[in-house]
Amino acid sequence: VIRLVSVDRTFGSEPPVHALRDVNLAVRRGEHLSVVGPSGSGKSTLLNTLGLLDSPTSGSYWLDGVETNTLGDLERTSLRGSRIGFVFQSFHLLPYRTVDENVMLAEAYRRPRPGRGRAGRRARAEEALDRVGLAHRIGFRPDRLSGGERQRAAIARALMSEPALLLCDEPTGNLDSENTESVLDLFDRLSRQGMTLVVITHEEAVSVRADRRVRISDGRLTEETR
Ligand code: ATP
Ligand code: MG
Repeated sequence: VIRLVSVDRTFGSEPPVHALRDVNLAVRRGEHLSVVGPSGSGKSTLLNTLGLLDSPTSGSYWLDGVETNTLGDLERTSLRGSRIGFVFQSFHLLPYRTVDENVMLAEAYRRPRPGRGRAGRRARAEEALDRVGLAHRIGFRPDRLSGGERQRAAIARALMSEPALLLCDEPTGNLDSENTESVLDLFDRLSRQGMTLVVITHEEAVSVRADRRVRISDGRLTEETR
């Protein structure tokens, strides 16, 4: 699904900051990859690159066999919208909307298509909530949910576009160990269903649940063996 070949990303010029240096990485469909490394090592830059929010300074990024450097802005945006979901440390749920409304809002600004009207959106939002184990929280506002439930609601929102690739930046950073487990169990299920997961974490308990672990230090990526 994902292939990075000799990717460099530098910011600024005097002096340049090398956020990624000669990064080579292949991730297959349904794989759960964990990315660890110190602060400022390039983890978020890697995730932004994979999410088509940032582009390599040099090297190439292949997504589903497409060399993404060749795409125009519109094509990148549409590929991002149809293939990629994002999950962050803070959940970014709107406090005065119920969880199902929050999930539906994932598509509020999309052009209506057949089956994508309000009723269709509600049905698919409820399906997404069911998929993350939150069917019993429909109609609840975020402040009535546990941290893990809030993060799973944010994941349900990301699932609305049926992404093939889910990119997570410290998804359990705000969660206690019990809520972390509930999110990790969900990651297991999604990965078994064929979703590709790239998860940045500094928590050992999270990275041990991945199929494979890579480490970034000072922009260089190395495989961890265990
Ligand atoms: P953290 O664990 O603190 O989130 P990180 O591993 O995610 O760190 P990055 O955010 O990828 O690190 O940053 C890597 C390096 O690139 C840092 O030195 C950072 O200052 C630099 N950097 C990242 N984004 C930009 C930008 N937009 N402009 C300039 N420098 C940037
Ligand atoms: Mg970061």
